Amino acid sequence: MSFASLGLAPALLRAVREQGYHAPTAVQSAALPPALAGHDLLALAQTGSGKTAAFALPLLQRLVASLPRPGPRALVLAPTRELAAQTAELLRELAALLMHRPRVALAFGGVSINPQLMALRGGCDVMVATPGRLLDLLDHNGLTLAGVETLVLDEADRLLAAGFADELQRLLGQLPARRQTLLFSATCPPAVEALAAQLLREPVRIRI
Ligand code: AMP
Repeated sequence: MSFASLGLAPALLRAVREQGYHAPTAVQSAALPPALAGHDLLALAQTGSGKTAAFALPLLQRLVASLPRPGPRALVLAPTRELAAQTAELLRELAALLMHRPRVALAFGGVSINPQLMALRGGCDVMVATPGRLLDLLDHNGLTLAGVETLVLDEADRLLAAGFADELQRLLGQLPARRQTLLFSATCPPAVEALAAQLLREPVRIRI
């Protein structure tokens, strides 16, 4: 299996090569074709499986397929600062090689909100955030979620275990109903199934 055969655009194939990825991992092989085709996804995959690229590549391909529009056009929610930072780093490295250079913003709690508000002033195309801080930024009118086309829930089981269920519901209320949603989780307890049932439309299910 090659990245080219999965439907990645040439610019993203270059970005993947630049990362040193020679062949897709199992979760990437399974997730990329349906995600690139616009389907919702329920992907059960562990950290270390290559899941970050499995959602980063489709959301970037969707961004570059159409003209720049006010963002963020993609939103990635992560349970921890470390995970959010790692995801933003990969997105930035991949985006640096694309035309229009999509801008990736990162926000998490536990640090002053002001630099994050300042950073959002110029706008962003992709927002990577922990749920609580994202709500704070919305309360400060730091951004609007009305233009989000792709929502990613990364490590959804940990998002719920960390007590973010209420925050998630408040955020979901601000997102357009018409969007693509990619839900990644290491495990699938009933709370994740319920969230998937609420959020996903005819999802493709992947278990690695
Ligand atoms: P993740 O599961 O997204 O945290 O990724 C785990 C590690 O796998 C990261 O260090 C990635 O750089 C690496 N990785 C992801 N996809 C590939 C690939 N297709 N080939 C080689 N390494 C990869």
